[in-house]
Amino acid sequence: MIAPGAVLGVLGSGQLGRMFTIAARRMGYRVHTFSPDSDTPTGQVADVEVVASYDDADALRAFATQVSVVTFEFENVPSMATEVLESIVPVRPSPMALHVSQQRAREKRFLASHGLPTVPFEVATTEAELSDALGRVGTPAVVKTAAFGYDGKGQMNAARRSDAAASWQALGGHELVVEKRISLQAELSVIAARGLDGQVVHYPLFENRHANHILDLTTAPALVPQAVAMQATEISRTILEALDYVGVLCIEFFLSTDGELMVNELAPRPHNSGHLTFDAAVTSQFEQQVRAVCGLPLGSPELLRPAAMANLLGDLWSAGTPNWAAACAHPDVKLHLYGKEVAKPGRKMGHMTAMARTVHDAQDRVIAARDALIA
Ligand code: ADP
Ligand code: MG
Repeated sequence: MIAPGAVLGVLGSGQLGRMFTIAARRMGYRVHTFSPDSDTPTGQVADVEVVASYDDADALRAFATQVSVVTFEFENVPSMATEVLESIVPVRPSPMALHVSQQRAREKRFLASHGLPTVPFEVATTEAELSDALGRVGTPAVVKTAAFGYDGKGQMNAARRSDAAASWQALGGHELVVEKRISLQAELSVIAARGLDGQVVHYPLFENRHANHILDLTTAPALVPQAVAMQATEISRTILEALDYVGVLCIEFFLSTDGELMVNELAPRPHNSGHLTFDAAVTSQFEQQVRAVCGLPLGSPELLRPAAMANLLGDLWSAGTPNWAAACAHPDVKLHLYGKEVAKPGRKMGHMTAMARTVHDAQDRVIAARDALIA
C-alpha cells in the first residue's frame, strides 16, 4: 500500500491529470507530472512539473526514482516510456492494459477474443485493402486511424465505397480501422475501477451526447432499460478482469436503434464522461484512481443526485471572455476550468456540472448555465 504522504507520478499534463492531482493532494499525496509542455493544467496544481519528451529515457528514469507509482492521464505514450518506468517503479494500470487500449485494431481484436460485442470492423493498411474493407463492412462507414485518435481526430466518414481514395488521401499511410456506421439510439459509458486486490466498483451507467465527434453533454444515470445497464456492467467487469486491470477504466458503448449494445472503445484512465462524479458521487473517478493505484480500498461509486455535465469548448470564447458571473448565478451549477490560456475551437477548456431532482432538470440547468456564458 502506498500511503498518503507518498509521491505519485502522472504521465501527461492535461485536465485529467489536473483533477487527479487535486484528488491526490486532498488525500495528502504529493504529485509529480511528466510531459513535454510547461505551465500545464496538471503542472499548475502538481508539486513538480517535469518538462521532457516521452522518449527521453534519462528524464523518465530520473522521474521514476522520485515517485512511488506511475499512472497516466494520456495513453498515447511510446511503449519504451512505460518499459523504462516499469523497470524502476510500479506502473498502474499496467503497460499491457495500455498496449491493448491505445490501438483500435488491437483493442477490437482483444474484445472479440473475449466474446464481447464490438462494432463490425475491418483493418486496412493499403488503399486497395481499404476499398475491400469498405466493401465487406458496408457503407456508410467510419474510417479511423488505428492509433493516436481522440475527440474525433483521425476519423472520416465514407458514404460509399468509392470514398476509399479520399479517405486514404486524408488518413492513409498508417493502419486504418473501418467500422460500420451505427445508427445510434444512445451512446453510453461505464466507468469502473478495479483495486489491487481485485475489488471492482462501477458508477451508474452514463449517457453521452457528442457534437462534431466531441463529447458535449453527459447525463447520469442513463435512462435506459435495466437489462441494458446490466449487460453493460457485465461486459465491463469481464474487460477489467481479462486485463487484470488496476485503476479506473472507461468503456464507451453504442446502443443501436435496434437495441444492440456494442463496445465502441476503451479509455485506460478517468474519462470526460466521468467528470460529473467530481461533484455528484460519493467518490470521484479521480479519487478512485488515486485509491486504486495506491492499493487502497475503493470508495463508494454511489451517485448523490441525478446530474448532468456540459463541456466548455474554446468556441465559447469566440466573442471574448465568457460571462462567468452569469453562469455562476445558477446556484446548483459547479464551474470547473482547466487553466488553459489559449482558447481554440474544439479545445476542452472546462466543464460545468448540475445536480437536480431529475436527470432532465439537471440537464436543463447545466445547459441554461452554459448558454448564459455567451448570452
Ligand atoms: P474518439 O477516440 O475520438 O473518442 P470514437 O471512436 O469514440 O473516437 O468516436 C467519436 C464519436 O464519433 C463517437 O462517440 C460517435 O459519436 C461517433 N462515431 C464513431 N464511430 C462511429 C460508428 N462506427 N458509428 C456511429 N458513430 C460513430
Ligand atoms: Mg470516444
